Amino acid sequence: MGALGRFLRSVTLWDIWKGLALTMRHALRKPVTLRYPEQRREVAERFRGRHRLRRWDDGSERCVACGMCAAVCPAAAIYIEPGETQYGERFAKVYEVNAMRCVYCGFCVEACPYDAIVMTGDYEMAEYNKADLLWDKDRLTEPDPAARAQES
Ligand code: SF4
Ligand code: SF4
Repeated sequence: MGALGRFLRSVTLWDIWKGLALTMRHALRKPVTLRYPEQRREVAERFRGRHRLRRWDDGSERCVACGMCAAVCPAAAIYIEPGETQYGERFAKVYEVNAMRCVYCGFCVEACPYDAIVMTGDYEMAEYNKADLLWDKDRLTEPDPAARAQES
């Protein structure tokens, strides 16, 4: 740009107008951010959020404490202690997911032969205490539909 060009640019405040136009263009655009927590972002169907232990339709727990999920977990985030009912059925007496270790790879879900463990769309996992990031069975297991029906 020659001297005349630079002179005209400075006299007409060209760069300021150009900057203002850019600002206005962005100000009038639809925002890409949401007013969280009033507005929530919809997650994809295959989103890998908080784990959930599922039940069968009769309300019994699907997990038989086979340990496949814990064995495949690359972060050693799953701890299971098996138990047995009076009828000789296996269940997870203790089932814990350490959210501080989990890398949300979903291997545990893939490994489970009973579709007992799934990953939900829940991404609100922040806690004030580290202890609350150790999700125990009560926290992981979905509510028993039979118990829910009795409550209502
Ligand atoms: S999602 Fe991955 S890291 Fe997390 S508990 Fe499952 S297998 Fe382990
Ligand atoms: S969640 Fe599935 S893979 Fe893990 S112990 Fe239970 S039944 Fe086995």
